[in-house]
Amino acid sequence: MPPRLPTWRALKWLRSSPEPPKHEAGDPFAVARARMVEEQISARGIHDERVLAALRTVPRHAFLPEHLRQDAYLDTPLPIGSHQTISQPYIVALMTELLGLDGDERVLEVGTGSGYQAAVLSLLAREVFTIERRAELAARALQVLARLHCGNVEVVVGDGTCGLAAHAPYHGIIVTAAAPHVPQPLLDQLAPGGTLVLPVGEASSQVLEVWRRTPAGLEREEVAPVAFVPLIGEHGWSDDAWG
Ligand code: SAH
Repeated sequence: MPPRLPTWRALKWLRSSPEPPKHEAGDPFAVARARMVEEQISARGIHDERVLAALRTVPRHAFLPEHLRQDAYLDTPLPIGSHQTISQPYIVALMTELLGLDGDERVLEVGTGSGYQAAVLSLLAREVFTIERRAELAARALQVLARLHCGNVEVVVGDGTCGLAAHAPYHGIIVTAAAPHVPQPLLDQLAPGGTLVLPVGEASSQVLEVWRRTPAGLEREEVAPVAFVPLIGEHGWSDDAWG
């Protein structure tokens, strides 16, 4: 049985104007970030200009604990506390590109973690709902997102394997933790023409899947092998499944 989750508590902040995240004064990482996009992301075949621009804009270092900031633009996932990780930049870019956003969508992210992926999505979609089961991570992500003026993101604490029915349907759903199988509620909450991107598998072997709700029905595609922390919840893994 998964542990009892904190009560369903929506952490909201005022919707401010949809301006892009502001750089910290005299951003010391601007050059490193531009190099990250060029060498790790464009060079590996991500060509959606809007995705590349979002990755050039969002200060990834702001989502990391102080002692890891100098590593923020390395080609690797990094720990964010509570045994969770922020994904490798290329994987964030790949999953984001697969959503195929054009700016007018409502998107659901399952697994807020640091909030970095949500900040990237906030520049590419009309509104972003992001759900995290660990209240302490959600609270920290909320602080950073608010400081960066990501006014079109809403952070929710709860079990994202059940989706977020209150705001469904979503044109894009992205899951940033590995599920044993695609959670049915997420398919149910996918709008016509919508895309769901998620890793499916166990600790040792996972594949990134894309599900599309087409006029002919649901289509599934396998994209790449990946490695994520477990998606834990009612339609995911049980709390102790991965030891
Ligand atoms: N997208 C994040 C990285 C996510 S790491 C970022 O940009 O930093 C995966 C996250 O999924 C972890 O924070 C973990 O606590 C969360 N998670 C796992 N199961 C979940 C569930 N059922 N609902 C919501 N969040 C979940």
